[in-house]
Amino acid sequence: MIDGETLVRSAAGLERRDAELLLAAAAGWTRTQWIARSRDAVPADVARRFTELVARRAAGEPVAYLLGTREFWSLEFEVTPAVLVPRPETELLVERALAQVTSANARVADLGTGSGAIAISIAHERPSWCVVATDVSGAALEVARRNGMRLVGGRVDWRPTAGGWFAPLAGERFDAIVSNPPYISADDAALGGDGLRHEPRGALTPGGDGFDALATLINVGPEHLVSGGWLLLEHGHAQGERTRAALVARGFTHVTSLRDLAGHERVSEARWPSP
Ligand code: SAM
Ligand code: GLN
Repeated sequence: MIDGETLVRSAAGLERRDAELLLAAAAGWTRTQWIARSRDAVPADVARRFTELVARRAAGEPVAYLLGTREFWSLEFEVTPAVLVPRPETELLVERALAQVTSANARVADLGTGSGAIAISIAHERPSWCVVATDVSGAALEVARRNGMRLVGGRVDWRPTAGGWFAPLAGERFDAIVSNPPYISADDAALGGDGLRHEPRGALTPGGDGFDALATLINVGPEHLVSGGWLLLEHGHAQGERTRAALVARGFTHVTSLRDLAGHERVSEARWPSP
């Protein structure tokens, strides 16, 4: 019989950590259990399940979909192909919202919540805040709702978006609006590439040149912000300048872009002026 270490090494082309995670998943072990058992013989059915998972990964399926989970903000989120796999760079949005909003009873909206990663992380850090989250995808909201129930005891107000980004927020104002909207241009070859081609297209691109959703969030955002409230947006690495220009043109102040760990402009934040 073959041992775990040999199996992991046989998964050519896969990152070692991913291969370990897939083997642990195939065996029903935690990663720690795997470390203790790496030299043990692996039962044939586990080895077969592992080989199947490796083949699916090699064909481009994100590891997070194969495992059904992804860590974000040190919390474990359920993910399915109905939601974008939460990215590490998106933690910057959470970080900035926590840094900029100081009120103890703040109201924050996460637009296009997907797995609920941003909204739930914020609710987890600030139990006294009121967090509202929306998505146009009912299937995504179901995943988000389950994550919210498990991670913050249901302390997020989930709202389906029927028409337009702000429809579920009619008549309401927030201390911060946070969003990682779809922002990839419709003709970007990356959409057909490894990983991305398995994610929901509507989570990745708003169509056209990729700026439509960002433009709507910037133009309509002020109708739903208190004075002194913050708009915090993730965007593509080449969209920083255009995003800042649109924020300034709309009348925002304190317009700033922040870089992700790869050094790319990834998040822009801006304040709706106090009277
Ligand atoms: N917030 C999650 C994250 O950061 O991992 C998911 C972000 S994903 C890039 C964009 C999300 O926006 C998708 O879940 C998509 O369904 C949603 N979306 C697209 N158009 C929308 C609209 N008009 N209103 C609300 N959500 C929308
Ligand atoms: N950051 C994702 C990617 O480029 C895109 C997510 C988005 O469009 N908001 O892989």
